[in-house]
Amino acid sequence: MIPVRGVKGARVAVLGLGRSGLAAARALIAGGAETLCWDDNPDACARAEAEGLTVRNLSRQDALDDLTALIVSPGIPHLYPKPNPIVAAAHAAGVPVDNDIGLFFRSFATEDWNRFDVAPRIVAVTGSNGKSTTSALIYHLIETAGRPAQLAGNIGRGVLDLEPALDGEVVVLELSSYQTELARSLTPDIAVFTNLTPDHLDRHGGMGGYFAAKRRLFAEGGPDRAIIGVDEAEGRFLAGQMSEGRGDDRVIRISSGQKLTGPGWQVFARKGFLSEYRKARQVGAIDLRGIKGLPGAHNHQNACAAYAVARALGMAPRVIEAGLQSFKGLPHRSQVIAEAGGVSYVNDSKATNVDSAVKALGAFSKIRWICGGLEKDGGLEALKGATGAVRRAYVIGREAAAFALQLDVEAEICITMEEAVARAVKDAEPGDTVLLAPAAASFDQYDSFEARGADFEAEVRRRLG
Ligand code: ADP
Repeated sequence: MIPVRGVKGARVAVLGLGRSGLAAARALIAGGAETLCWDDNPDACARAEAEGLTVRNLSRQDALDDLTALIVSPGIPHLYPKPNPIVAAAHAAGVPVDNDIGLFFRSFATEDWNRFDVAPRIVAVTGSNGKSTTSALIYHLIETAGRPAQLAGNIGRGVLDLEPALDGEVVVLELSSYQTELARSLTPDIAVFTNLTPDHLDRHGGMGGYFAAKRRLFAEGGPDRAIIGVDEAEGRFLAGQMSEGRGDDRVIRISSGQKLTGPGWQVFARKGFLSEYRKARQVGAIDLRGIKGLPGAHNHQNACAAYAVARALGMAPRVIEAGLQSFKGLPHRSQVIAEAGGVSYVNDSKATNVDSAVKALGAFSKIRWICGGLEKDGGLEALKGATGAVRRAYVIGREAAAFALQLDVEAEICITMEEAVARAVKDAEPGDTVLLAPAAASFDQYDSFEARGADFEAEVRRRLG
């Protein structure tokens, strides 16, 4: 745990008692703060009380008047589409609103670091897609090189739950736009921006707000190195703004698909090959095509970002290559869960938006595509033209019929996962890939994308025997 600094004797409230909220409450107490917890869900309050935390109903009038700060969980809207009433009341009362990420950045460095040979460093990863894969891959590369590392953030472990740093350690944080938007302190040593496509627009008041939230990681005078995907206009803008000149190697530009030229530092993947150029000379090359844990151009983008981080940390290309080769991929992201009768079964339940589904569809051939669910803002238009490798779609979800109507491939309305897997397994021929890449959220039928992916896997196992 990282005890929060600068809160001794202060009264701090924590709103939202999920994983990160509970970790924040414990870390505040360890830092000497009087800590009050609240969640609209009575079960969450009961759990907090059972572990000895103090619960206070923050929605009562005047409940915020004596607070030094309010710490808010990422799931709670702080501005759009409408601020949570407690957050709005805190702003109205002039109570500073922060989150666990802000607390972490101001608490992580300690006096112990003065004795270290190499100061610990923080790598923070954001972007619309590929954050988890890239963060896990960076962590894997550092670990397999035998260096100390820890991984936390949006990927599952609350940041204040990390252990205090070791000499030379690298902490890798996956940060969502909700987290970067609210944190009052955000000072990574290396910041990564993978890509930007529309998502969570309701929470950010549109695309501009969404980009602005992610950009906070790159505040002027910010990270020592900025690793930026330049395949979208926003990334090019950000890289341009961060650069002091054409050869400024504080910025490492990355791309999947484009050959990047110029005197700066760049890492790109084309036709399955990763190349690193520095001062207009090629200094590294890796064949990514056979790496099972990183299929498709989207994963090659993730590989470029992780490679760039590892290089910025001083690792040699051949050490990085060995790490890429041994990366197994993450569950529910282009994960091969079974191979039988010449057919591959791939779980990409995390493809909750159209863009990530398009990427998954581009990574495989002869696809039996299981898709559908709760449609996101922006519609399915962007799927058109991306379905060239699809042999047939098997549509799940409560609104499967309406979803199927918008597709430009032959589609069967299955509604349930059970039905979709049964039909896909029956139709599949050797060489096919049965791919779950829903292009939609899971909440019409499941609690989470993980539950949806687990159901897919269970159905596949049941059918294959
Ligand atoms: P995030 O943490 O940003 O949601 P993940 O690594 O969990 O990213 O991947 C989310 C989804 O996006 C998965 O379906 C995955 O296959 C797809 N994906 C992964 N990397 C990329 C990328 N670089 N660009 C687009 N889609 C990607």
